[in-house]
Amino acid sequence: MPSFEYSTPTTVDQAIALLNQSGASALAGGTDLLIHLRAGIVAPKQLVDLSALDLNYVRKDDGIIRIGAMTTFAEILDSDVVRRDLPCLAESAAEIGAVQTRNMATLGGNLCSAVPSADSAPPLLVYDARVKIAGSDGERLVPLEQFFVGPKKNALKPGELLIEIQASVPLPRTGARFLKLGRRKAMSLAVVNVAARLTLGQDHRRVENVRIALGAVAPTPRRAKRAESVLQGSDVSESLIDRAARAAADEIAPISDLRATATFRRESSRVLVKRALTHAWQMATGETKPND
Ligand SMILES: Cc1cc2nc3c(=O)[nH]c(=O)nc-3n(C[C@H](O)[C@H](O)[C@H](O)COP(=O)(O)OP(=O)(O)OC[C@H]3O[C@@H](n4cnc5c(N)ncnc54)[C@H](O)[C@@H]3O)c2cc1C
Repeated sequence: MPSFEYSTPTTVDQAIALLNQSGASALAGGTDLLIHLRAGIVAPKQLVDLSALDLNYVRKDDGIIRIGAMTTFAEILDSDVVRRDLPCLAESAAEIGAVQTRNMATLGGNLCSAVPSADSAPPLLVYDARVKIAGSDGERLVPLEQFFVGPKKNALKPGELLIEIQASVPLPRTGARFLKLGRRKAMSLAVVNVAARLTLGQDHRRVENVRIALGAVAPTPRRAKRAESVLQGSDVSESLIDRAARAAADEIAPISDLRATATFRRESSRVLVKRALTHAWQMATGETKPND
């Protein structure tokens, strides 16, 4: 492994000052970065370890859930707030690697890796999450949708840190579901991953708000907006969900690679979107509970 400097700043300002030096790279759980370092894919001159920063928390205030970027997937799974208010994110955390990976891997690191298959991305996209970014010019809040700019490319400028992920507490009569298809039953990257959220009106039928997001089927995790528009404002039904799932499969841009063909990804997307929406609908009407 190439040699590098190593520092453990204790404040975000110190971390940003260090990251502004040339060749510096942030180190969170290291589950991606250390593998890339050993493989010679990256060769930072300095690793800025974020573990001593106060960025490990899940808080709820004024209807906003705030998750520190250094919160691990094991902690997300353990959080009552996440399990109750953002069950779809908890479902995705349960699907990430094995327990050893979940103990180390952070939510911030998963988003910053910006791989198309990042499992935390679709759930956070359907919850309309925002990311708080800190840099030498101060802080800014960016919709997660704008954070992914290409395969393994995020919207961070040099020297910036992702410090917090925010999502609003969902309204009553909301249901959501995350589903992942991998090559194996456990410990595999997604061939396709899907999240769906439905919020129904007071009549328990009209779709007041809907979000559908998919991963591993385009250069970035992305929403399926044409599929959303099939449902938005209409009375939910099995046939409408079927139409929305077909629209989602039509609007993605999957590729063929070692893990699956584009055709398989498109068909799997249709099936997963249909299942996720159906579960979200049942949850929104109270027929099923979160994490059922
Ligand atoms: C065995 C194994 C199984 C895995 N299974 C899955 C899986 O099922 N699903 C899945 O989605 N992923 C999986 N992964 C990938 C990986 O665990 C995740 O992407 C992880 O969440 C990355 O987080 P980390 O804290 O380890 O980040 P690191 O490896 O420390 O960092 C990743 C990148 O993000 C940058 N970074 C990290 N935090 C910040 C921050 N706060 N601000 C700015 N930049 C930052 C780093 O500089 C680096 O470029 C797996 C990995 C392994 C090794």
